[in-house]
Amino acid sequence: MRIKLISEFADEEVLREIAEALRRVYGEVVEIEFAENLIGKGFLDRDRGQYDAWKIVQYYREMLGEDEYILLVTDKDLYAAGLNFVFGLAWRGVAIISVHRLFPEFYGQPPDHSLLKERAVKEAVHEVGHLHGLTHCDDRRCVMAFSNSIIDTDYKMSRPCRRCLAKLRLI
Ligand SMILES: [Zn+2]
Ligand SMILES: [Zn+2]
Repeated sequence: MRIKLISEFADEEVLREIAEALRRVYGEVVEIEFAENLIGKGFLDRDRGQYDAWKIVQYYREMLGEDEYILLVTDKDLYAAGLNFVFGLAWRGVAIISVHRLFPEFYGQPPDHSLLKERAVKEAVHEVGHLHGLTHCDDRRCVMAFSNSIIDTDYKMSRPCRRCLAKLRLI
């Protein structure tokens, strides 16, 4: 499989780090593409001020080529039905992550670019893990653990645990 990483978040260093981590964990080719205004206003819920992650992945699924996964990266805030927000979402070949809540500044903390990168890598490896058929892992250190908050994200590693890695080889 090939992973097409399409981003409207124009931080090349973060994107390169994501691409490297995906190559390392999944052994796949990653192509990086910039796309201004990837997530249009049509996906915005004006009352919430957030974008509907489900609608976005469903929309981009139409553009999915053969033997490829799509990973969308945005800095817009995302939600999914029943949840106040999501860091990301994955569905049938298409995943999205948002860096909106990965900035330390979002939590009133000073900027920290390496922390931002680390968080973005974890969320990307997690969502692409779903694309490969991995489900949530109850090992809280595993990248496939569900993140309820940024505390969970910071606690986990940027790679799957041994059990999840073994599943990956079977899938
Ligand atoms: Zn998940
Ligand atoms: Zn695991």
